[in-house]
Amino acid sequence: MRIDLITVLPNLVRSPLDHSILQRAQEKGLVEIHVHDLRDWGLGSYRQIDDLPYGGGGGMVLRPEPLFACVESLQENLGEPYDEIIYLTPDGETLDQPLANRLSLSKNLLLIAGHYKGIDQRVRDTLVTREISIGDYVLSGGELPALVLIDALARLIPGVIGDANSALSDSFQDGLLDAPAYTRPPEFNGMSVPVVLTSGDHNAILSWREEQRLEKTQRLRPDLLPPKHEESVE
Ligand code: SAM
Repeated sequence: MRIDLITVLPNLVRSPLDHSILQRAQEKGLVEIHVHDLRDWGLGSYRQIDDLPYGGGGGMVLRPEPLFACVESLQENLGEPYDEIIYLTPDGETLDQPLANRLSLSKNLLLIAGHYKGIDQRVRDTLVTREISIGDYVLSGGELPALVLIDALARLIPGVIGDANSALSDSFQDGLLDAPAYTRPPEFNGMSVPVVLTSGDHNAILSWREEQRLEKTQRLRPDLLPPKHEESVE
């Protein structure tokens, strides 16, 4: 998968991309991530990228010309259409695991991180194919949301995580939360690891985990479970 990210703060995203799973994914050639500084397409000698909002009010708005020029040039270099051009925005569709699963099958994605008051609506109306929010709260810029999206997608690409089953058994993959996890030592400060996990009985461990997942989901996130079958009133 190839991901291009347009940002006004390229240095902000470099460290997370250069560590841990995202770093290994790129080193293995499973994900290619290119960060583009919008200012390279800025206007005039000051490389202007934003301006005051028409109609007044606080905050600056990212101007359309640099964004159009940047997207067009990246599109031309790619040589084929992006599967999606995604604007990270609080009023977009909320990112969840099914959406991450679908997007992880993409060949190439272009992400736009907004700033200040956001980006000119004409970019959203014509260039952007999908708008994604990472939750109902407002951050200062789209860089952290873009990193959240990139991480959520990259770990689903076969080969990125050593044990593929690990990602598939994580919370939300099949509508349930993950089971509790334990490691050594078997006793710590008077607390023991559930006996079944050290029993070596694989089937018993699987059943225990399923029970735990269901119990935890019922307790913490009952909204994830399908509604109980209502008995029809005769
Ligand atoms: N005026 C915008 C609004 O109220 O919808 C908020 C702009 S926000 C201060 C600046 C940028 O941060 C946005 O353009 C967007 O790229 C990013 N952003 C902030 N919160 C976000 C969220 N929850 N999900 C995705 N992107 C977000």
